Amino acid sequence: MPTFRSTNPARPAEVVIELPEHGEADVDVAVQRAAEAQRAWAARPVPERAEAVAAAGAVLTARKAELAELVSREAGKIRIEGGGEVQEAIDMAAFVAGQGRSAMGEVVPSEMPSKLAWTTRIPVGVVGMITPWNFPMAIPSWKIFPALLAGNGVVMKPSELAPACGVAFVDACVEAGIPADLLQVVHGGAEPAAALATHPGVGAVSFTGSVPTGRKVAAAAMAVGPKLVSLELGGKNAMVVLDDADLELVLDGALFGAFGTSGQRCTSTSRLIVQRGIAGTVIDRLVERTEALVLGDPLQPNTDIGPVITADSGRRIAAMVDAAVAEGATLATGGRLLDHVAGCEGATFVAPTILTGVKPTHTVAREEVFGPVLSVLEVDDVDEAISVVNSVEYGLSAAVYTRDINAALHAVHAIDTGITYINAPTIGAEIPLPFGGTKHTGNGFREAGARGIEQFSQIKTVYVDYSGTLQRAQIDNREDLG
Ligand code: NAD
Repeated sequence: MPTFRSTNPARPAEVVIELPEHGEADVDVAVQRAAEAQRAWAARPVPERAEAVAAAGAVLTARKAELAELVSREAGKIRIEGGGEVQEAIDMAAFVAGQGRSAMGEVVPSEMPSKLAWTTRIPVGVVGMITPWNFPMAIPSWKIFPALLAGNGVVMKPSELAPACGVAFVDACVEAGIPADLLQVVHGGAEPAAALATHPGVGAVSFTGSVPTGRKVAAAAMAVGPKLVSLELGGKNAMVVLDDADLELVLDGALFGAFGTSGQRCTSTSRLIVQRGIAGTVIDRLVERTEALVLGDPLQPNTDIGPVITADSGRRIAAMVDAAVAEGATLATGGRLLDHVAGCEGATFVAPTILTGVKPTHTVAREEVFGPVLSVLEVDDVDEAISVVNSVEYGLSAAVYTRDINAALHAVHAIDTGITYINAPTIGAEIPLPFGGTKHTGNGFREAGARGIEQFSQIKTVYVDYSGTLQRAQIDNREDLG
């Protein structure tokens, strides 16, 4: 069988893992095994499934330091971000375990006497999961734990750029007692992913990745039959800064939002929409702070920014910066590829970049960059800011910095995104609330939170009539109404 390797983006000569490149037949075997194991799993009471998820959380907790380092080595995240990612998976396990002893449906009063009416959730069978490289442990946890709680089997295809993290996550679950056949992993790129999305034995497809890939996956999955298909796609997130904002808070938030994870988060701050009166001050201070950031080995404690995931990605980001300048933007800082960072032979770094004079019509203001590039757009007031926030096809996350409660709540109401922050950056979601976006960012499902289970289950509505007679809803006792 052909194999492929994932490498450390900070030292591309270092192989992290070598894995088989799976094809359609391997996917078929995995789905069948998961389907077989799912029957016994679905028969176990929900609280018992929840206990297995809690046990997985305990293994993740015990192995946090080792797993965090793996995230850094395979995805290039600085060490504290690797730790945050594993913590997110631990938090998800705790949340889902609690859900196993919570309400999972609704009970309503029937319009008939001696009749009960309620809903419950039933599994879909096997869930096919296709995941991206940039949250290689947190995103599997968002999908796997609720899918298992709902009584499903799982086949996951992690990104070929960070599969060792997916393998380590699943190993931790198996070590905790989740049956290995129930939770399968297949490896490779588009081929096994497409085979999984279109497999007739897969009842739900859960995809996180870019908009173009998500569209292909959804179309292919729906073409073979009715499936639940959930899409969590890209973002073009904006931070609005009004002229009464706390400047130091703005600078801290913009730096973390735009350059954390080298700008490679779906929620990264990509646009800074600043009220004109304070734009000059914000830009000057931001450039100064940006130029002080330390690029380097993600595992070194003083590193602020690691490499981008691949050399191709670096070239794509640099080309977008060049195109922005050609369209009329000004390069205030950064914009260069650095390939000679100490201790990181062969790695590609993008110097954190700030573009000023960007217009809402510029490509760099409309398309996802997925790199450490912040575009500054100037506006006159909060209404113009909101209209610029909403002028893109994405709708994931937005932030508004102001001390004016009326302006803040007006913005919360008018901004068209799935997540809105006030006086906090566009990144920083917490597990108990839903995560996801409007417009092209998704198709209406949400991950995490109490509703995270919806994409992995169907609703069953149950009526129990204990009257011993035929009772006709909407007809009996209604003659008076004609
Ligand atoms: P990607 O779309 O390139 O790949 C995602 C997954 O799809 C990978 O597993 C890949 O192997 C697979 N794939 C590639 N081609 C395919 C095809 N033709 N058919 C089926 N599967 C295919 O995305 P990426 O570069 O890994 O991740 C970055 C993207 O993910 C960004 O757009 C980012 O915004 C988005 N993202 C979104 C969220 C969210 O929750 N909304 C979270 C993280 C990342």
